[in-house]
Amino acid sequence: MTKVLVRPEMEGFKPYSPGLSIDEIKKRYGLPRVVKMASNENPLGTSPVVQERLRNVSSLAFRYAQAGSPALTEALAVHLGVPASCVVAGNGSDEIIDLLLRVVARPGVDNVVAFNPCFSIYDVQSRLCGVEFRQARLNADFSFPFDKLLSLTDENTALVFVTNPDNPSGHACPASDLVALAALLPKRALLVVDEAYVDFAEPLEAYSMLPHLGEIPNLVVLRTFSKMYGLAGLRLGYGVMPEWLADLLLRVKLPFSVNILAEQAGLAALDDDIFVSQTLLVVSEGRRLLERELSAMGCKVWPSQANFLMFEPPMDARTLFEALLAKGVIIRPLGSYGMPEKLRVSIGNEEENLEFLAKTAEVLRDHD
Ligand code: PMP
Repeated sequence: MTKVLVRPEMEGFKPYSPGLSIDEIKKRYGLPRVVKMASNENPLGTSPVVQERLRNVSSLAFRYAQAGSPALTEALAVHLGVPASCVVAGNGSDEIIDLLLRVVARPGVDNVVAFNPCFSIYDVQSRLCGVEFRQARLNADFSFPFDKLLSLTDENTALVFVTNPDNPSGHACPASDLVALAALLPKRALLVVDEAYVDFAEPLEAYSMLPHLGEIPNLVVLRTFSKMYGLAGLRLGYGVMPEWLADLLLRVKLPFSVNILAEQAGLAALDDDIFVSQTLLVVSEGRRLLERELSAMGCKVWPSQANFLMFEPPMDARTLFEALLAKGVIIRPLGSYGMPEKLRVSIGNEEENLEFLAKTAEVLRDHD
């Protein structure tokens, strides 16, 4: 067989590993119903307002979207109080991460710096771009060691990623710490603050970097519609960045990566204040409940400003994870983040939270 020549980065390339799907687990265990609390999706599902908009615009599916999603970009600009020329919408914020790397990082020359552990797409896409990926280990309490991060940067550092609130720990630092970090980075490095979960941080004003865009020339803020707006399956995210950079991203982006239904859903979601406030309430109450009850069961739980909790059970984490799967509850093991003794659970709705707690209590009791 002829061996086709491929890029050296492809040798043993490990892809992003997503959470297990409901269908997979239903089939594996012959279960009629499965609860998924593994991918930090919205506990209320898809907003009824968005569902109605999708029904109304479904006949438009035959049309190409407008390249660059101008209607959504304008609406986001108004919503966020930033110029539309600074906003780039993408096929999930994953696409913006990929575009940033492709536009600014020179293969074989540049490096990208992030914490360890971190959201694995930074690493996967950096390797794909032929760029060195450097990581600074988080402090033992999962706070951010900015001095270590800075010590890994040099004149070839293209991007520095900080997830705030962080995934998978839920830890968040005040925006003022990131403003201070930005001032210390090498001049050419872009500081990319991934705010996928910032909507759940309390109070938002203390954590979001958006108000600092004007004063920090190399700042990029990433946001997503996958979490608070409940649109993970439609794939919609965006980045807010300096105009010159937005212009470059729009030039290389595949023109229709944000499809026409996703754009309409995004527009409807931005206007749906009721769904947003219900989501925030359910997440905030659920987070308190799960934190209290898991702690009462002897789990170590880390404080979280996101819509998930990281915890360490008083038994083998993998065994608990597998036992929960067999009982129809999917959560996330953190072995792929280098933490096999820890688990992450997304905040569900009230019924899901109670089911997860009851089944976790059963497994812990049976294990004693
Ligand atoms: N950043 C972080 C930290 C995430 O956890 C996720 C989702 N898992 C994303 C970005 C990607 O979000 P999207 O669905 O918009 O691609």
